[in-house]
Amino acid sequence: MCRRWLSDAGFVFDKPSSGISDFDGKFQGHEDGVIRGWAPRIVGDACPIALPSVWEHKAMKDDQWKKLQKEKLKKFSSTYHGQVMIEMHYMKISQTLFSATNANTMEIYHEMIPYDASEAAMIMAKIARVFDATHLCELLPRISADNSYYLCKYCPFYNICWKV
Ligand code: SF4
Repeated sequence: MCRRWLSDAGFVFDKPSSGISDFDGKFQGHEDGVIRGWAPRIVGDACPIALPSVWEHKAMKDDQWKKLQKEKLKKFSSTYHGQVMIEMHYMKISQTLFSATNANTMEIYHEMIPYDASEAAMIMAKIARVFDATHLCELLPRISADNSYYLCKYCPFYNICWKV
């Protein structure tokens, strides 16, 4: 729906891409879209963002949406911010339009995220470290010493990792 609204406003999206694939296909992802063009509804209207631009969208509850609006993406979520850095890195695009829809009110928040080469390199090094360690059967330290840590609760390897 949000993508359709953006298209109605004049943003022209690329056809869906095959996404990101690296490390022999073990690392994969997919951007929500790439905005490549601008077809203004009113002749002469300038495009309000730099193009091309990766587009990433999230829907979130009212309290989270307000928090994002207040804090901006980098502070709000290093995960989402890291995700768009990686997408820009692989797609060689230097900005992302990050959109978030408030699932309670349907308000939309937009933020432009610039590519940061040093941050992307740091994340890429982390990803490579995980794959290298896995190939060498090296056991990396757990993310937490506490098995009730919230990320562990969602982890598909919980039982193996904590030997439960
Ligand atoms: S349960 Fe998952 S997230 Fe938690 S430490 Fe183990 S592998 Fe990492």
